[in-house]
Amino acid sequence: MRKLRPALLTAPAAVALVVLVAATPNPTPTPDHHDRKPGETFRLQPLSGGVYALYGRGGNIGFFVGSDAVVMVDSEFKDIAPGILAQIRSVTDKPIKYLVNTHHHGDHTGGNEAFQSFAVIIAHDTLRRPTLPSPQRILAEYPKELEEAKKAGNAEDVQFLEDAIAWAKKVKVEEIAAPVVTFDSELRIHVGGETIEVWHTPPAHTDGDSVIYFTKANVIHMGDLYFHDWIPFIDVSSGGSALGYLAAIDKVIARVPPNVTVIPGHGEVSDLAGLKRARQFVADLLEAARVARAAGKTKEQFLAAVDLPQYQGFDGYKDRFKGCASAAWDDIVTKP
Ligand SMILES: [Zn+2]
Repeated sequence: MRKLRPALLTAPAAVALVVLVAATPNPTPTPDHHDRKPGETFRLQPLSGGVYALYGRGGNIGFFVGSDAVVMVDSEFKDIAPGILAQIRSVTDKPIKYLVNTHHHGDHTGGNEAFQSFAVIIAHDTLRRPTLPSPQRILAEYPKELEEAKKAGNAEDVQFLEDAIAWAKKVKVEEIAAPVVTFDSELRIHVGGETIEVWHTPPAHTDGDSVIYFTKANVIHMGDLYFHDWIPFIDVSSGGSALGYLAAIDKVIARVPPNVTVIPGHGEVSDLAGLKRARQFVADLLEAARVARAAGKTKEQFLAAVDLPQYQGFDGYKDRFKGCASAAWDDIVTKP
């Protein structure tokens, strides 16, 4: 676990915050781009074939209402889980039987705990690893951070770390809201007449990314493989890769029809053209890195100079662009 300073979290740091947000009883609300006024946390968007997009405060939720059950994709944060449930209940009283996590980040899995008593949590094999050892990790690393926070007089950090330590001391392994059904490459869920396919993709945002395709409805949830007209976040510390983004998106494009509806991890529901723009951004960045390297530049020189003005309108250009550029450079050096 890297240094944690909840009060200073920015959006990319917040989406990188894995275990902490997922594992603590009262996760600190992260100041991300989803902040809305009280009462405006949620927005529900019906799509086709019984699939809905639910915008909240973390990664977008998708859910499917079948003839006998509801299948959810991602769970945002625990503190807004009652609101998430209320939104689903506003369209159906069918039981929520399955919750699929697209990847392990806390803004997609933080609400798992609220659903685990009735929903089977499903995710790629890699997702149990970051959630299960978290109490040990918290107990090993946080006491020192707590002392530092106390010395610095940072009350918010102190509270956050104390809550995490208290939780880690008493939690039992079966209480941790980790996935209970995991898979290696693909999995299908059959609910009524719908077949929901879950595909693991090459490492891109993390090394545990999955997309969820509602085949009959023709809607795909991309998780954080797709930020709609946002600069993506490549979580290199979790196995993410810029080249992997191209491979992952290409895998999806090869398998879905051109008129598919696309739910991104962040940003508004989109179409395939939007997803292709996201791919193009990563491709252009990799090309810029290749050109700089061929011209004899160092990584530092590349990072200082790189600019892709055509993407300046994307959300997060200031916050995340250089991080993506760094990942792109490392990829072309290590995986040319
Ligand atoms: Zn993420």
